Amino acid sequence: MLSTMQDVPLLISRILTHGSRVHGASRVTTWTGEAEPHRRTFAEIGGRAAQLAHALRDELGVRDDDRVATLMWNNAEHVEAYFAVPAMGAVLHTLNLRLPAEQLAWIVNHAADKVVVVNGSLIPLLAPLLPRLPTLEHIVVSGPGDRAPLAGAAARVHEYEDLIAGRPTGYDWPELDERRAAAMCYTSGTTGDPKGVVYSHRSVYLHSMQVNMAQSMGLTDRDTSLVVVPQFHVNAWGLPHATFMTGVNMLMPDRFLQPAPLAGMIEGERPTHAAAVPTIWQGLLAELHARPRDVSSLTQVTIGGSACPPSLMAAFDALGMRVCHAWGMTETSPLGTVARPPAHAAGTEEEFAYRLTQGRFPAGVEARLTGPGGERLPWDGASAGELEVRGAWIAGAYYNGPDAEPLRPTDKFSEDGWLKTGDVGTISPDGFLTLTDRAKDVIKSGGEWISSVELENALMSHPDVAEAAVVAVPDEKWGERPLATVVLREGARTDFEALRAFLTEEAHIARWQLPERWTIVESVPKTSVGKFDKKVLRRRYAEGDLDVTRL
Ligand code: AMP
Repeated sequence: MLSTMQDVPLLISRILTHGSRVHGASRVTTWTGEAEPHRRTFAEIGGRAAQLAHALRDELGVRDDDRVATLMWNNAEHVEAYFAVPAMGAVLHTLNLRLPAEQLAWIVNHAADKVVVVNGSLIPLLAPLLPRLPTLEHIVVSGPGDRAPLAGAAARVHEYEDLIAGRPTGYDWPELDERRAAAMCYTSGTTGDPKGVVYSHRSVYLHSMQVNMAQSMGLTDRDTSLVVVPQFHVNAWGLPHATFMTGVNMLMPDRFLQPAPLAGMIEGERPTHAAAVPTIWQGLLAELHARPRDVSSLTQVTIGGSACPPSLMAAFDALGMRVCHAWGMTETSPLGTVARPPAHAAGTEEEFAYRLTQGRFPAGVEARLTGPGGERLPWDGASAGELEVRGAWIAGAYYNGPDAEPLRPTDKFSEDGWLKTGDVGTISPDGFLTLTDRAKDVIKSGGEWISSVELENALMSHPDVAEAAVVAVPDEKWGERPLATVVLREGARTDFEALRAFLTEEAHIARWQLPERWTIVESVPKTSVGKFDKKVLRRRYAEGDLDVTRL
């Protein structure tokens, strides 16, 4: 028997219509680096998104599932594109502006982007690539920046504001199949070519509802969220869509992502929430220690993308900013787990330990652990295996061809269609995930596994250590052993012997896990989304480019 319920497709246009009408007074504030930031209401964004859709259709000839790329910072115009492109039935492709030029060109060609909306300040990045981007027919430029490098481009160049000016502020959004492609995002591709994940209207809609649940970010129209996580990094973790459902104000840093302007934004605009990867918060912490500001408004900070070091969480707690740790991937939209401690842990010593886990699975994400031999492992908080997940906002394939026919590589998906995350960890009986490593970063020493993340967290809890990354390096006797690369704070007075003693005596690391190879680096190399780039460290070690001390 079928249900008697209406079958209303879950479309991004519905989120836009709702947000711009019901929460019309909520605002997107974009940092400009000048005395006043730029402010735009959700109602205005709704109108301008409609104007953009008219322009794309009538002036640029965007049809069906044509790809419209963005090469943009986090700002109000990027939010407009976020809604206009999928709502009209086309596909938004957010480009990672930190990728090497080669990869960027590869991705634009693989996705066959027809239009790119680019911030003026990023023209120097785009212009040299243009001769290699044959599918690109239109370039739409928004915001300050010299246009001169675009002269002579084969694609037609438009000014964003001129393009949308005078067009109707309403649009008869098409009633699409909710399973159609809405947006695409390529993984940062630390090994092999980047892979395209294509989100559907339905997956974005359901994911947005999950982001808004109290057990996730749980924000309302009383909140302002400082969205530091880039809009090109898994849709800014779903925030632009989720906020339009509930009227949460957004504070967008545009290109001002350095610690000092971020601290200024927090003091001046008083956001209640913020989201970014740990490296951003490490930088902000150093800034706040050097030049204290009033950051008292910021009571909730979502940290994910890589493991949150316990020392960082404790330091933020001390400043009154409560960290909420979360795990996810480009393939999971990204919300996979959020570390809200269970009720019984409130106010107990257990609470901090729960907050340090990657978090608990929501109802929409099913999880299982697979051992090295393919066996299912129990949720006992001890058995470690590769995490596999399944759900309505989890990828089931990658975009592999210009004809949008997805193929299914088996190294990333199980026979029965679960996503193999490549993350290794345990799950407690009450559904909390603790990751010990990426499968490719774990250190395999004499048949035992050493967690690089555990060693890094222990090192970063030392007061003289600003950052630390640990990688596996080949060892004649044990197969692999850890190499500790350490960034010291200014004026630090420690040495490797003292750090090693600290690891056993204070951090209780087992002796056999202690690194014997140590090196000081000026900074840990980072990937395009701000994570430790361990591949670069391994390569530098292999090439003899690091000054290694052996204890
Ligand atoms: P990306 O697709 O670039 O967002 O990368 C996803 C990967 O980042 C995951 O597979 C994890 O390895 C890592 N990651 C994300 N969040 C966390 C976290 N909270 N703790 C540890 N690793 C994380």
